[in-house]
Amino acid sequence: MRHRIIVLGAGYTGAFAAGRLARRLRREDVAITLVNADPDFVERVRMHQLAVGQDLKSRPFSGMFAGTGVELKLAKVTGVDVGRKTVAVADANGAEELAYDTLVYALGSGWDTQGVPGTAEHAFEIAGRPGALRLRERLARLDAGQTVVVVGGGLTGLEAATEIAETRPDLDVALAARGGLGDWLSPKGREHLRRVVGRLGITVYENAAVTGVEADHVATADGTAIPAAVTVWTAGFAVHPIAKATALEVTGAGQIVVDGTMRSVSHPDVYAVGDAAMVMGPGDKPLRMSCASGVPTAWQAADAIAARLTGGKLPNVPIRYFNQCVSLGRKEGLIQYVTAEDRAARAVLTGRLAAVYKELVCKGAAWGVANPMFGMPTRRRRVTRERAAAGSAVAASA
Ligand SMILES: Cc1cc2nc3c(=O)[nH]c(=O)nc-3n(C[C@H](O)[C@H](O)[C@H](O)COP(=O)(O)OP(=O)(O)OC[C@H]3O[C@@H](n4cnc5c(N)ncnc54)[C@H](O)[C@@H]3O)c2cc1C
Repeated sequence: MRHRIIVLGAGYTGAFAAGRLARRLRREDVAITLVNADPDFVERVRMHQLAVGQDLKSRPFSGMFAGTGVELKLAKVTGVDVGRKTVAVADANGAEELAYDTLVYALGSGWDTQGVPGTAEHAFEIAGRPGALRLRERLARLDAGQTVVVVGGGLTGLEAATEIAETRPDLDVALAARGGLGDWLSPKGREHLRRVVGRLGITVYENAAVTGVEADHVATADGTAIPAAVTVWTAGFAVHPIAKATALEVTGAGQIVVDGTMRSVSHPDVYAVGDAAMVMGPGDKPLRMSCASGVPTAWQAADAIAARLTGGKLPNVPIRYFNQCVSLGRKEGLIQYVTAEDRAARAVLTGRLAAVYKELVCKGAAWGVANPMFGMPTRRRRVTRERAAAGSAVAASA
């Protein structure tokens, strides 16, 4: 009987994990199922582009995984039972239960309203495709001179505000940041950011803690009311509640706590990757939710699963940061080089070259997902019955 591996979520990390597992393990030995709600790959890192009216390349999974041995299951995950080792899914044909021997949880995240009053009712978000399409439709109906306030001065907020301002110079775009504009960047990075933001005519509200969102304005802690025909909320991501409803050990926010091989610390037959996982990075700091750190967690998990099933060497590659790649519209960008712990180094790359660099990074990530069997040596190793059984036994006693 083949060892059943189910990967939940085919975003950047789930898709990479499934592809890598298929490259590492023999088809005769494992049945890999990739479960995703959508039939095509969503490039989340381009949601601000989608929101301003750009059309993204269609990337159907059926083509990507054809011939790889990965079975695609298009369904919504509604629950996980880690005791019975089953996943509950639902699609147009009804509900169903899938049994696994090893689970890779990669359901990603959505937007985080942080409980700020009025946000859920009045704000728009770009953490996923439905939200970005809703904003796209709304932006298209705005008249010249109307105001758009982007809440959140992090990477997503900067990308959203600049993209909107570049595409719609007729709008009055503002950015509300809790701290100073780009205050984590190096002096050169900050200076470049200020220059671009100024050139695009974006009004910046610094040290602005947003305490409420209304239909026509955003309220801040110091009593300022920032007029907003449209509020775009980019103040962080929150994980889906599915993991929290299981017996898995999770953080208060619901991320699955894993060890260095991305294996759940409470349930050894479960692995978690990407935004859904709480992974300690360099300097004993949790990795932030990003593709930059999420994709290496997928590689690490796939290699660890393969190693455990075949008796190979466990991977022990430290996950570190190299740079933060920020698009500032289509013509400008900022590549901030960082230390392993994600602290800004002095060096930056700016201007059109940085925009091209960022574009190549996005293209490269999507290409990697779309070509799951490319690259790495295809050394498929044999799963030993004893190892597969040992894995299940450990899991059963957990
Ligand atoms: C606008 C924007 C710009 C960004 N820019 C960058 C950047 O420049 N660099 C960077 O490193 N990071 C960036 N990020 C963050 C990055 O996109 C995420 O960290 C990354 O997508 C996480 O990957 P993931 O695989 O964990 O989750 P996701 O990519 O979110 O994938 C999760 C998958 O699971 C599926 N799913 C979720 N729930 C269910 C369910 N119940 N049933 C079935 N399927 C389900 C989803 O449809 C999706 O396919 C950006 C994010 C946004 C929103």
